Amino acid sequence: MEMNSLTRLLREADETPANPAVKNWKSQGKKVIGWLCTYTPEEIIYAAGMLPIRIHGNPQRISLGDAYLQPNTCPYARSCLGSALETEYDFLDGIVATHTCDAICRLYDLWKLYIPIPFFYIMDHPHKSSPSGHKYHLQQLEKFKQALELFGGNGINDAALGWAFQVYQENRILLRRLYELRKRETPPITASEVLKVIKAGTVMPKEEHNRLLREALAELEAREVAPEKRLRLVVSGSMMNETDLLELIDACGAMVVSDDLCIGTRYFWSEAELDSNPLLNISRFYLEKVPCACIHPPEARLEHLINMVKGFNAQGVILYSLIFCDTFAYDFVLFKKRLEEAQIPVLLLTLEHPSLGIEQARTRIEAFLEMIAHKVS
Ligand code: SF4
Ligand code: SF4
Repeated sequence: MEMNSLTRLLREADETPANPAVKNWKSQGKKVIGWLCTYTPEEIIYAAGMLPIRIHGNPQRISLGDAYLQPNTCPYARSCLGSALETEYDFLDGIVATHTCDAICRLYDLWKLYIPIPFFYIMDHPHKSSPSGHKYHLQQLEKFKQALELFGGNGINDAALGWAFQVYQENRILLRRLYELRKRETPPITASEVLKVIKAGTVMPKEEHNRLLREALAELEAREVAPEKRLRLVVSGSMMNETDLLELIDACGAMVVSDDLCIGTRYFWSEAELDSNPLLNISRFYLEKVPCACIHPPEARLEHLINMVKGFNAQGVILYSLIFCDTFAYDFVLFKKRLEEAQIPVLLLTLEHPSLGIEQARTRIEAFLEMIAHKVS
């Protein structure tokens, strides 16, 4: 029996050669390029006829990564390197990183040093949105396009770039529709399912993801669910590519209704002002999207987070950081202060990994929920 679209989206979120979308792409003799950070302009890779897929890393491989990266590098970077050293990514034709945080750069350096893959590229990225930053970023995109043209042996024209940008824009609109459903008092899809759906879109062609999303949305928008009262939370912070924390929050009796995460709203929420130059549109999107903590100043992200709390009717925020992720840990102080000034309860949580040792957080989450329940009663 053929799987329905939502089931496929929930099951096909792994970046392995066994993923049907990756398998199918490779079987047509086409190239697959792994990317390491959401500032990678995927549209250019897609316009080159190559499949961009996000590298998520395998938590079971962290200890191997430890042998090469300093153990005080974030666990995401160590798990990616460990998986690569275990030859789990040998099916890739290339790796692209952006100069955002140090962990990403060191991961890229060691990958390049120890694991032979035909194409390696690291793109510089301005750490501020300013007129000179825009000009510089556009130049970086042009250089990246030329490198891909050389590697693929084909030109990438404006029509292909414009088409890829449109496909990605549609994806962002569909994902925003998915989040609209989380505004309901009892949403028809859980936070962990939403994360899986977004993750699936990072490891399959976006056209395929759009088709599956359209069908899944039609089903979800019509779905009736029995009403259930739970405290509503927003999670904000560093890399979360596993659903364990979201499931734990669920098990504690609350639900995550929105987020400020890298594989969450920061991936798709913003809209760029459009121009007739497709490369400029791509550049504007990546420079104007809700910024990661490695981009300054942090005000735009803070404003986005407060909008998420208000727009999704949430009663509290969990500020989450992976251990050794200094970029997000640094913002904790300011974010906690500003959220408390806005009367929004905050819990700071630092985890060893998005999926390992999660149970340790249970007591703190339960105590936080009790405090909110007391406040709102
Ligand atoms: S958290 Fe920031 S630096 Fe890390 S992968 Fe995401 S966008 Fe890139
Ligand atoms: S921003 Fe943090 S979680 Fe993301 S790659 Fe850098 S150190 Fe790791």
